[in-house]
Amino acid sequence: MPSIQLTDYKPIVGHHTLEELYLLAERLKGKRVKMVNSTAIGGGVAEILHQLVPLLNDLGIQTQWEVIKGGEDFFVVTKKIHNGLHGESVSITEKMKEAFLEVSRENLEYTDLNQDIMVIHDPQPIIYIEGKNRTSAKWVWRCHIDISNPDQGVWDFLKGYVEQYDASLFSSPRFSKGLSIPQFLFFPSIDPLSDKNRELEPEFINQVLDRFQIPRDKPLITQISRFDRLKDPVGVIKAYRLVKRYFDCQLVLAGGGASDDPEGEIVLDEVRAEAKGDPDIHILLLPPTSSLEINALQRASTLILQKSIREGFGLTVSEALWKKKPVIGSAVGGIPAQIIPHFTGALVYSIEGTAYQIRYLLSHPDVAKKLGEYGHEYVKEEFLITRKLRRYLLLFHVLSHPGERIIHL
Ligand code: UDP
Repeated sequence: MPSIQLTDYKPIVGHHTLEELYLLAERLKGKRVKMVNSTAIGGGVAEILHQLVPLLNDLGIQTQWEVIKGGEDFFVVTKKIHNGLHGESVSITEKMKEAFLEVSRENLEYTDLNQDIMVIHDPQPIIYIEGKNRTSAKWVWRCHIDISNPDQGVWDFLKGYVEQYDASLFSSPRFSKGLSIPQFLFFPSIDPLSDKNRELEPEFINQVLDRFQIPRDKPLITQISRFDRLKDPVGVIKAYRLVKRYFDCQLVLAGGGASDDPEGEIVLDEVRAEAKGDPDIHILLLPPTSSLEINALQRASTLILQKSIREGFGLTVSEALWKKKPVIGSAVGGIPAQIIPHFTGALVYSIEGTAYQIRYLLSHPDVAKKLGEYGHEYVKEEFLITRKLRRYLLLFHVLSHPGERIIHL
């Protein structure tokens, strides 16, 4: 696909939105920004960076993207830290901490810190802040994780590093912490022109369903997620079973792994065991290059679920709403920021609640349709990539010109 330019968004967001972005970028032209995360493929952060980095460059801000490199040992520790931040009780030994620090420091040695702004995503590369005294760059920690109730030991370990940053960004007001540095609310976003979200021909959608051997004779309920216990795929199957007593429907659980997530295969086995060979449950293990397939599955679905137990933001919710699909999501993480009950979707708190909402929306297609339509408008207003660009530009202004006041990010 040819690279996307900002002007391509004009038919979707309008002329004024783009003019504002050009204006904000004017005084930042030539600034050097480096984004660092832990995976180039898989999961929401990689998804966001693939869109954001080229568009910032298009606006004249020289933006690079670096991925921290580490072996399995490193990612086992970072996964523990990730789960601990999400609230799981974990124990990180001194040996693990050493491995974590050692890999980060090795990476840092080869990193060009001759930048104006360093944006470090999530905990995996958080130790990069140790390079702060080698550069005049401003440092931002972008946290995509729900850290409202973290394991105390993990948070105590990280907090000392977080507070060395110049600013921190969180996806929901509920994730903010008592910190000595400024905190900004940054909703993630989706790209309406990416393969994941652009319009598709009905023939292509049908081909994808044929390829996955999914018949179109019954309502299709879908959850797209990495196979991760925090996405509760087993709970989704249990909710489907409760619905299945009353409605003949089928379930799609589709997802792949991420290179920074070593637990995926174990969870996939648990999901297969729970499905017990039910021919109406389609468990699809998707390779990382499946954006068009995910798009087609979302568009072909009657209802979309995101029944996470913990969630950072839950980009899949905005992706589905953009496609005008009714979405049922757990009231965790950033999902309530996207789903306004009775308006842009349904929020749920349990397996039974999920089953109830599925039954309700399957039997009230007019209500389901309205939720999808309002959801689309809401995403257009709040969660498109152009909105996020605006937030980053304003943040870069705040960091580059600290004396000036900008009130609304
Ligand atoms: N996704 C994907 N392949 C998969 C599963 C998910 O490309 O097998 C995408 C999904 O469409 C969404 C992102 O990865 O864009 C997941 O982001 P989300 O915030 O929902 O969850 P995360 O994986 O970051 O916890």
